[in-house]
Amino acid sequence: MKKFFAIVISLVFCLCACAASAETLTVGLNAEFAPFEYVDDNGEIAGFDVDLINAMAEKMGMEVEIEDMYFDGLLGALSSDMVDCLITGMTITEERQEQVDFTEPYFSATQAVVVLKGNDSIKTLEDLQGKKAAVQDGTTGHFMAADDLGCDVSDTVYKFSSDAALDVVNGRADCMIIDDAVAQNFLKLYDELTIVEGLDMPVEEYGIAVNKGQDELLASLNDALAAVIEDGTYDELIAKYFQ
Ligand code: GLN
Repeated sequence: MKKFFAIVISLVFCLCACAASAETLTVGLNAEFAPFEYVDDNGEIAGFDVDLINAMAEKMGMEVEIEDMYFDGLLGALSSDMVDCLITGMTITEERQEQVDFTEPYFSATQAVVVLKGNDSIKTLEDLQGKKAAVQDGTTGHFMAADDLGCDVSDTVYKFSSDAALDVVNGRADCMIIDDAVAQNFLKLYDELTIVEGLDMPVEEYGIAVNKGQDELLASLNDALAAVIEDGTYDELIAKYFQ
């Protein structure tokens, strides 16, 4: 009988230890970037990136914990180890690669120029020179508008992409420059908005960012990404969010 109890007690111990060691993957994102990450009607953080990282974490035997923060604070949160990785529609750029490592790309995008319907003042990239462009702080759209396209962003840089969209709706800015899939989403919300067609924007690739030196985590994220592509989960998520 004593032996039986000893076995039961050690089993319970083992189960507790195992449950406690289900490792947590802490993920930083900015839930202002639908359909990649947003707060849904129930107040939950949802979206393509959220489903993708959950499916990947399952392959890795890890639990996901999400930290929602401003986009321009995400890289700092990563470098100070507040989070383990970032999945937030983040474009892989050379500047960011000096600071962090990225997984293999998981999505392709371009910047879209969003204007009020009937505004035909922008037909080429050159036409954007001097135009008032609303952007989200610290994004590739922000840098492109300010540094490459010569837009005026002096008082139209926002923490939230939804505020940038409102500037165009209200006629406070000539345009918003933001990733195409997110721009499409704003068109669904605001009937008066449209996207300028035929602009020759470079292709951007989204990656999941980890701190440099985290080679094991990077490798297991890449393996998990390959696994969810291989088993069809990735395509299911594309269908769920983009069709
Ligand atoms: N893809 C853009 C970037 O990396 C925008 C990302 C975002 O706003 N979440 O800067």
